[in-house]
Amino acid sequence: MHHFHYRDGTLHAEAVPLTTIAEAVGTPCYVYSSATLTRHVRAFADAFADLDARICFAMKANGNKAVLRLVTGLGAGVDVVSGGELALALAAGAPADRIVFSGVGKTEAELGAALQAGVHQINVESEPELEALDAVAQHLGVRAPVAIRVNPDVDAATHAKITTGKAENKFGIEWTSARAVFRRARTMDGIALKGVALHIGSQILDLAPFEAAFLRVRDLVALLRADGVAVERLDLGGGLGVPYHAGDETPPPPTAYAEVVRRTVGDLGCALTIEPGRAIAGNAGVLLSRVIYLKEGITRAFAIVDAAMNDLMRPALYDAWHDIRPVRAPSAGTETRLLDVVGPVCESGDTFARDRTLPPLVAGDLVAFMTAGAYGAVMANQYNGRPLVPEVLVDGDRFHVVRRRPSLDDLAALEDLPPWLLREWPCPRR
Ligand SMILES: *Cc1c(COP(=O)(O)O)cnc(C)c1O
Repeated sequence: MHHFHYRDGTLHAEAVPLTTIAEAVGTPCYVYSSATLTRHVRAFADAFADLDARICFAMKANGNKAVLRLVTGLGAGVDVVSGGELALALAAGAPADRIVFSGVGKTEAELGAALQAGVHQINVESEPELEALDAVAQHLGVRAPVAIRVNPDVDAATHAKITTGKAENKFGIEWTSARAVFRRARTMDGIALKGVALHIGSQILDLAPFEAAFLRVRDLVALLRADGVAVERLDLGGGLGVPYHAGDETPPPPTAYAEVVRRTVGDLGCALTIEPGRAIAGNAGVLLSRVIYLKEGITRAFAIVDAAMNDLMRPALYDAWHDIRPVRAPSAGTETRLLDVVGPVCESGDTFARDRTLPPLVAGDLVAFMTAGAYGAVMANQYNGRPLVPEVLVDGDRFHVVRRRPSLDDLAALEDLPPWLLREWPCPRR
């Protein structure tokens, strides 16, 4: 459920018309709903209320400082996957003892920064990383609170690019070697071994893969305990899907997901962590865009909008489907037509939708790409010299630009000319 609805014929974010935001901020821009974010964090908190569980929002889904501030203000922690995300989370005021550090290739510098900040847990994904962390921790005179991420080798039945829990994926320690690694970790002076972590993928719409993975973890915990390894914590990762395609996709609610957790690992006496990202931020955001031209071809018609693949990469990267809604509701009885909705970037992949049934859009119309709050702005780049798309947070009838649109000067602000090109221009013949 989300808070983007038509009122008096205009699509609103909570109580704010998207037309108002488009006029004030310009397009394209992302618009987030505080009410939706809040609702989703609370839905997870309520679903897990009877379990000893912490919710760590996976900020790689949406790392805006204001979003982090809101989510952590509701009591959630943060799952970070780089030193950069760690710094951003701390800057947003996230308490270090609510931060979990995941990721397959953490450097010694990143591990050191996490230890110095005093994070709750570092999820280790390989034996070499375990050795590196042991050394960094000993050097700092601390013991690193560690969960070891195992790869349960289950098929999450999602897009290949967001499947992470199969043996062929780069993530986690192979199921079959996990026991030996745990035994080894126990002997390391820099490692305080806390438990087991896993994360099997993203946009998962069926509970069966979770159930299979959690049961495997349950078996592993029994084996580890038989080996004399204390397992106090389980980190179950994220991955619950969202309905991009209303009607076709019906992700299970957090309560049903929690029920699977309760049934599979609820009686192990472990403190639990869950790391939802998409399920919290996904339909809490839309990408607001304006039609620049309507190009009537001989075989197809294109609505060319001012948002592009650099602003929202999901369709180009994962063939993702986003619902596209006109901000002004078409009047009753308006005939629809088939349109390709494309951006201005010089790539055929810059296509948001093909043969989409839409009202007859004209230049100047505003459209909203729905369910764009996760893996949207965080993946934006400035390809084709397009400044990073700004972000707006709505709360009731107020809104605030929570990341401004860079100026054209900002586009090249980090670039520098070598002195010889300043001196020798036009270039001498060689
Ligand atoms: C990406 C990721 C998540 C969040 O996944 P969602 O599908 O957005 O819930 C959680 N944990 C880890 C380790 C991740 O890499």
